Amino acid sequence: MEGTVRVRFAPSPTGFLHIGGLRTALYNYLFAKHHKNGSFILRIEDTDQSRYVEEAESDIIRSLEWCGIEIDEGPKNPGEYGPYRQSERKDLYRKYAEQLIESGHAYYAFDTTDELDQMRERLQKSGNPSPKYDSVTRQSMKNSLTLSQDEVTKRLEEGDEYVVRLKVPRRETVRFEDIIRGHVSFETKGLDDQVLLKSDGMPTYHLANVVDDHLMKITHVIRGEEWLSSTPKHILLYNAFGWDAPEMAHLPLIMSPTGGKLSKRKAEEEGIPVNTKDYIKNHYEPEALVNFLAYLGWSPGDDSEIHSLDELCELFTLDRVSKGGAVFNHKKLLWYNEHYLREQSDEDIAAKVRSIASEQKVKLPDEDFLIEAVSLLKDRVSKVDELLTMGDFFFKDPEEYDEKALKKWKSDSPALVSDYRDSISGLSEDQFDAATLKSHLESVIEKHDVGFGKLMMPLRIAVTGQGFGPDLFASMELLGKEIVLRRIDTALNKLV
Ligand code: GLU
Repeated sequence: MEGTVRVRFAPSPTGFLHIGGLRTALYNYLFAKHHKNGSFILRIEDTDQSRYVEEAESDIIRSLEWCGIEIDEGPKNPGEYGPYRQSERKDLYRKYAEQLIESGHAYYAFDTTDELDQMRERLQKSGNPSPKYDSVTRQSMKNSLTLSQDEVTKRLEEGDEYVVRLKVPRRETVRFEDIIRGHVSFETKGLDDQVLLKSDGMPTYHLANVVDDHLMKITHVIRGEEWLSSTPKHILLYNAFGWDAPEMAHLPLIMSPTGGKLSKRKAEEEGIPVNTKDYIKNHYEPEALVNFLAYLGWSPGDDSEIHSLDELCELFTLDRVSKGGAVFNHKKLLWYNEHYLREQSDEDIAAKVRSIASEQKVKLPDEDFLIEAVSLLKDRVSKVDELLTMGDFFFKDPEEYDEKALKKWKSDSPALVSDYRDSISGLSEDQFDAATLKSHLESVIEKHDVGFGKLMMPLRIAVTGQGFGPDLFASMELLGKEIVLRRIDTALNKLV
């Protein structure tokens, strides 16, 4: 197998790339890169024109790129198995559908919507709760198995509407080995005669998926558990074509912390961004999301948690993917984010802060000041954009005071703060350092015989407008004497 692994990520461009899709792409990529010369292929499954969303493909590509997932072959960089958009391969599927008709594995079906509805009604009335177009019903429908050859030819020549259906065997057990789930078996009895080619000439997902996986020489199909029930149909198709099926691996569902599948609605309720673009927009670190997603259903089998994309490629194997659902723990993601944020230099973070500030039209101080502010703030935030919210007092005087914090502004606060102001007003700019500012506070509380917090909290409110934040004395040193005294004066005026 070494050197020949080819996997694909095959999204339907029906919307923005969601987090579950991104994990599937990531696992495919990690698996491909774990094997020397393995290829990661992007195939756009856009045969359902009614659900097509124009910007979906570029969103998918942008999202993968943001994560550092490189596409070896795809619509933008075709390899030798293109085109990589199914809508551009339309003619090919018809040829394969016809091949199945010739070999007796599929048939033309001319039934109208009305006739199909009538069939379902009839069956329901006779006590069948889920009527199917199957090995029994097909015998009383209008298809190339029941109509004469002449009639079929005539209908085709006259351009009658038809679909091509797979002739699913009546009683068979379809078995396959799933790398993650082990032995899987399905009875064909419960299956519909799957439509392979629709009346508009487009293939269904099942036909296109199997034909393309075969033609693109895909060795492993790694996809979400929701596709497991489609796999028996695919196996039947591989058998009908006489092709070897790729290895199958169905990934566990992503679960909500409150139980159940992490649906779009649940995610929204729990404040979990659903689409990759929201992680980009909300300034998550891509390395954090990648590391977090890798562990959402997989682990290397030791206590290690922090791994770069390259290390993950090195470590990733499908036998360590769990069968059970993986719970999306947003706090854990933020923990990863903090890690990857703190790993960066203050200079690099400052550059990111600058770009966010320019988006938000926030005016920032000069570079040295900003880098100092970053170094004071970065251990206290989870995401880079929070540097701007938590640190906004570095960039402008507080316009209002945090309501909760104000509970700590007591009747004796003005006297204490005012005393402190007097005590530091004589300091020169050079003397205005964190240690001196702290020692002055100690003298004032000693004089008044009160606890540290009695002055510290009101002072923090006056200088920053907030009840918490980075080291106050270091922050005051950075702000400088003029600004600190001005803010204290404003607070004493406003907050008596
Ligand atoms: N087009 C399917 C999707 O949207 C692909 C499923 C598969 O990987 O076979 O996820």
